Amino acid sequence: MSIRLADSHAHLDLEDHFPDQAAVLRRAREAGVLLVINVATGLADAPQVIETARTSPGVVAIVGGHPHGAGAMTEADLAALDSLAADPKVVAIGEIGLDFYRRRSPEDIQQYWFRRQLEFAVAHKKVVVIHTREATSVTLSILREYRGRIIGGVMHCFDGSLTEAQAFLDLGFYLSFSGTLTYPKAGGLRQVAAKAPLDRILVETDCPYLPPQPWRGKRNEPAYVVATARQLAAIRGLTLEEVAARTWANTLAAFGLEEATVLAPDQAANP
Ligand SMILES: [Zn+2]
Ligand SMILES: [Zn+2]
Repeated sequence: MSIRLADSHAHLDLEDHFPDQAAVLRRAREAGVLLVINVATGLADAPQVIETARTSPGVVAIVGGHPHGAGAMTEADLAALDSLAADPKVVAIGEIGLDFYRRRSPEDIQQYWFRRQLEFAVAHKKVVVIHTREATSVTLSILREYRGRIIGGVMHCFDGSLTEAQAFLDLGFYLSFSGTLTYPKAGGLRQVAAKAPLDRILVETDCPYLPPQPWRGKRNEPAYVVATARQLAAIRGLTLEEVAARTWANTLAAFGLEEATVLAPDQAANP
């Protein structure tokens, strides 16, 4: 049986991790991964992220300033985001948020640019993709400031508790699970995945990082999202096909995408 999977968060243009990008995308399609959401890590790589989406079937783009780069972000960057986000291939603003684990930028500067980009997303009616690490309570309180104004969002690489999951769900966010769901020590996360509403969960690779268990220590790539979907199927007592269909539909819904505009014509004809 053929499946359709969406990798809701990949970095295909991060530094030089994917010199073989065409082959990587071919392997993704062969594995049934027909939609890859390609995420910029900053304003510098955003043009290439959009270019990849323009030239590769089944790839769309997300642009924004990652919290790691907040310390170097400027008003000019925000102005640049204005024209970048207007591209029809750009489906959301991200990844934005707070990272108090690596703390590559001062916390107050991270919060400042997080809010500025949330305001940008509100003004441009864009979905947001949120990165939060060791910063859940501050992330939640900031997102609550924008409740009812943000049109939608995804908590990417979600690894919080059930209580935290519920708080983000209450704000209308989707939860995206990465390869960490397959790690032996991720029992707590698997309990969250067992209880999260089936119509609010996505799967992602966050490649080249966080490869699922079978590929630990190697470069991650979109084709491997199938391992995370398989893990989710085991947790939920569903088939891989059922999880693929659910998360595919949820990804389209989360980003307001139409299947016909995502799929290459040959794929739409032969699902
Ligand atoms: Zn992230
Ligand atoms: Zn990422």
